[in-house]
Amino acid sequence: MEATNWAGNYAYRASRLHRPSTLDELRAIVAAAPHVRVVGSRHCFTGIGDSHELISLAALPPDVVVEDGTATFGAGLTYAEVARALEPEGVALHNLASLPHISVGGSIATATHGSGDRNGNLATAVAALELVTSDGDVVRLARGDADFDGAVVGLGALGVVTRVTVDVEPFYDVRQRVFEGLSWEALLGHFDAVTSSAYSVSVFTRWGDATDMVWLKDRGEPAGELFDARPATVERHPIMGVDPIRATAQQGVAGPWYDRLPHFKIEFTPSNGEEIQSEYFVARGDAVAAIRALREIGDAIRPVLQVSEIRTMAADELWLSPQYRQDMVGVHFTWIRDQAAVERALAEVEAALEPFAARPHWGKLFLASPAALYERLDDFAALAARLDLRGAFRNDWLERLLGSR
Ligand SMILES: Cc1cc2nc3c(=O)[nH]c(=O)nc-3n(C[C@H](O)[C@H](O)[C@H](O)COP(=O)(O)OP(=O)(O)OC[C@H]3O[C@@H](n4cnc5c(N)ncnc54)[C@H](O)[C@@H]3O)c2cc1C
Repeated sequence: MEATNWAGNYAYRASRLHRPSTLDELRAIVAAAPHVRVVGSRHCFTGIGDSHELISLAALPPDVVVEDGTATFGAGLTYAEVARALEPEGVALHNLASLPHISVGGSIATATHGSGDRNGNLATAVAALELVTSDGDVVRLARGDADFDGAVVGLGALGVVTRVTVDVEPFYDVRQRVFEGLSWEALLGHFDAVTSSAYSVSVFTRWGDATDMVWLKDRGEPAGELFDARPATVERHPIMGVDPIRATAQQGVAGPWYDRLPHFKIEFTPSNGEEIQSEYFVARGDAVAAIRALREIGDAIRPVLQVSEIRTMAADELWLSPQYRQDMVGVHFTWIRDQAAVERALAEVEAALEPFAARPHWGKLFLASPAALYERLDDFAALAARLDLRGAFRNDWLERLLGSR
């Protein structure tokens, strides 16, 4: 197998790619493979999902079932596919990431998130999941089961998640508006007011004299003003000056949740990207100080940066969620695709964020091990050892995280 991740900055070393079309076929492949992983939509930026053998879930039946406030479907579906299947049923998910082309299995494995003070990450919508463990057994875990909170953000380390049940709610529309030029003084002086000014709020910046833009996504009546920022009079891309053709509609025009909560349109499927991403999460109470610390190193960041995004997420109970029991603020970096230069900048970013015990996004590029920042990591390692007795899902990335655990 010769392939890279979506960004093209990681080449898989796996020698085989399986595409089972039935659960029994999948179980036999997993049970026979010495070392194996699922490959989702390949949107991670590291070797987190690599192994000797990979399994794509693309040929498994999607079987979308909507009942009792939940939707159940094959974990290999992308959020775009799920959204299309949910629309005729009149239901929606609570949130989405910046683009809907990411697989559900891969997203929940790494606690992928959108934004919103009161919105948990995408893994928090999971009500149950079905897992094929390394001996080929099928394990079903539901919210309330002892292992459930440890298994949802599973890093791909526990088994193959074949089906997922998520909470759904009545279909809703969202209006998106963009404000430009919010000053740092206004953002840092009124941080809570800015991030709570809509259902989902994203602040885009290149760490210059002011922030670039604030994207507000509202489910109700939008508020009229945002401190000293000006309403944009034209459509925008998250990177100021880039053609907005791929960006979801703005200027307050109402549209379906799945076509406003992501920044990028559902009908435009980017097959690869000239970028690398990193993201760090700090406790809400540290956000202003952490942003100030990053502004101090703006000169080290800017030369390799395309854009940064500041977002918020609500606390949850999932052991390896970066938002475990704490409301968090994420500072995201879309870098140019120059790994060595990005790693030099990351060393500065991680040093600046060191006082804040910043947790990196599991799916993005980071340098220092976050093991000490996860109080439930030992419990997770024990769960992984129990579900994956023969270590078939362990890979180099996981060895570095778990070490001798
Ligand atoms: C353009 C772009 C935009 C992004 N936007 C956001 C964003 O807005 N918010 C955010 O938080 N992140 C974002 N990300 C990061 C992305 O959501 C995560 O990296 C996510 O894990 C990618 O999912 P995937 O299916 O592509 O995973 P892959 O890279 O294919 O796999 C990720 C991990 O999940 C495991 N895995 C995948 N499927 C399964 C399964 N069914 N069972 C068990 N394990 C599985 C893999 O083994 C691997 O360990 C973005 C990435 C890109 C490239």
